[in-house]
Amino acid sequence: MEFTVSELKEYFNSVVNMIEEQKDYLCELDRKLGDGDHGVTMSIGWQAIKESLNNELLNEEDCGKVSIKVGKTFLSAVGSSVGPLYATGFMRGAKVIKNKTVLNGEDLAQFWLAFGKGVKERGQADVGDKTMIDTLEPFVNVLEEKFNDYQEFLSAFSEAVDAGEEGMKSTKDLTSKKGRSSRLGERSIGVQDPGATSAYLILNEFFNFVKSRSVQAN
Ligand code: ADP
Ligand code: MG
Repeated sequence: MEFTVSELKEYFNSVVNMIEEQKDYLCELDRKLGDGDHGVTMSIGWQAIKESLNNELLNEEDCGKVSIKVGKTFLSAVGSSVGPLYATGFMRGAKVIKNKTVLNGEDLAQFWLAFGKGVKERGQADVGDKTMIDTLEPFVNVLEEKFNDYQEFLSAFSEAVDAGEEGMKSTKDLTSKKGRSSRLGERSIGVQDPGATSAYLILNEFFNFVKSRSVQAN
């Protein structure tokens, strides 16, 4: 498969729209667990990314530079704990796609593995802490294993996103151990983690984006 720098930018633009649609839902989850700002935070970050995509990035041909800029823009726009987490993900992902205008399945798999591992390294959370790692770690593990098995991106990514979704859902029954919501202790049980939810939505958006491309191409 071939994935161009224009498609990468189109994907990031589709995340901008998706986050606007999910903003209230993400805030509602965070109202029950934290300070209620997760949807607003994500919206501020992605609106800043939209600005970059429409300006500095308009003529950028290097997939790596696009992803670095996305990470840096998110970091400077977002004040809350997810700022450095998602920023690190996109900046680590950028390293494996640098100097490339067109990406293949292997590049895409390596990009998302670096993204997930980057967030984990930055946040130092483990599975079970009720954070975005509950989505990202199973996603990374399945993507790594299935891409090795199939050597085909979309099937491997599809199974990895399903594993991420399971992980996201598992956060509902967990007690928060990291971040603002950890202050609630057992009172955090019963609500799905906002960050685990936004992480799943970002991955699922990529799956839908690539799937619709491959349907068009056939
Ligand atoms: P804040 O907690 O500063 O208000 P947000 O509301 O934007 O930030 O984001 C909260 C989310 O951040 C949580 O739902 C959780 O998933 C995620 N999070 C917090 N700390 C960590 C961490 N150390 N590692 C991974 N994710 C984290
Ligand atoms: Mg919050």
